[in-house]
Amino acid sequence: MSNQSSKRGEATSAVHAGELRQQEANAITTPIYQTSTFWFENSQQVIDYQEGRTDREEYGRYGNPTWRAVERKLSELEGGEESVLFASGMCAATTTFMALLPVGSHLIVTSDCYRRTRQFIDQFLKRMGVEVSVIEPGSTQAFADAIVPNTTMFFTESPTNPYLRVVDVPACVEVANKHGVKVVIDSTFATPVNHRPLQDGAHLVLHSATKYLSGHNDLLAGTLTGDSDVVDVVRKALGVLGGIIDSHGAWLLLRGLKTLAIRMRSHNANGQAVAEYLEKHPKVRKVWYPGLASHPDHEVATRQMLGFGGVVTFEIETDLDGAIRFVDATRIPYQAPSLGGVESLIELPVTMSFWDYPKEERQKLGITDSLVRFACGIEDQNDLIADLEQALEKV
Ligand SMILES: *Cc1c(COP(=O)(O)O)cnc(C)c1O
Repeated sequence: MSNQSSKRGEATSAVHAGELRQQEANAITTPIYQTSTFWFENSQQVIDYQEGRTDREEYGRYGNPTWRAVERKLSELEGGEESVLFASGMCAATTTFMALLPVGSHLIVTSDCYRRTRQFIDQFLKRMGVEVSVIEPGSTQAFADAIVPNTTMFFTESPTNPYLRVVDVPACVEVANKHGVKVVIDSTFATPVNHRPLQDGAHLVLHSATKYLSGHNDLLAGTLTGDSDVVDVVRKALGVLGGIIDSHGAWLLLRGLKTLAIRMRSHNANGQAVAEYLEKHPKVRKVWYPGLASHPDHEVATRQMLGFGGVVTFEIETDLDGAIRFVDATRIPYQAPSLGGVESLIELPVTMSFWDYPKEERQKLGITDSLVRFACGIEDQNDLIADLEQALEKV
């Protein structure tokens, strides 16, 4: 009934995977199931359901048929057994940590990391009795050295935010498997079009679906995909913690996912073109983009990824005032946090995410005053470059 096949191409999967052909009234699209609960015709049905003899929905916090279509689509795209949806990427991360890290366990994370994820680890996980080690993203040796007998999980973005560091997933998995450590990849910046961590042996892959997966800057969502036994543990935790997406949000995500493959081709092409343009510009000090030979992880990225995404991070040869003049002079991108939507977005990490940090702290994290994060949308690359050109003249 469901159009499942692991052999077909990603663009076909993006459109058809997870959708049931046979819908009410022969509709082509999956309906929004706007209901909080699901009724049973008699007590026997309740008992059959409790004993696992029927596959059906029960109550909205545990899921509904609109979510299921998204979960199936994503599982096929990532090449995983099972997926679960959350209200946001943060909810996916926090629920996964709480479900899988017992008191007294040890977590390894990478230094370049989405700020709120790091905040949860520092403020909450430590309080919950989880020990944490922070390592450099580029070194498998650093990961191996950080493992101790109670290490339970290695959590990292790949590529990371904002320096787009790429973790050598097969190498880390080989080390992790010797010690029974779970490798969890936040693949938000890659998407299954550019990298499938599960096929490199990672145990779980997580997304802020707010970004490329939904792709239109119009909703917040999170996802987790992996083997059913592990995903089920997290799903049960979600049923208790309650950070669920509503069915309308799930439907928007389902719709956004259908164009993931073609959107990513455009994001990848724009990212590469913008990075190459900026690298040659005399007012640009440094560019971080995994598709450039100058990026520290270019070799790993080329081996592991099929494309490098739309986010380009760069430092301008100027001070904070100059950087502000540049960003304020751009006309196509919106100045906003986030990435991965059809509209290009631009931000200065110093004013957007790190303004409340003391300057020395920021500098330690590498967040300089003239660092810019440009998240290419799917506009024409000539227009994006012409816009950057005129804005750089203001520096
Ligand atoms: C945005 C983002 C998150 C958080 O996701 P939300 O959907 O905003 O909660 C987590 N990780 C990465 C890499 C992100 O870019």
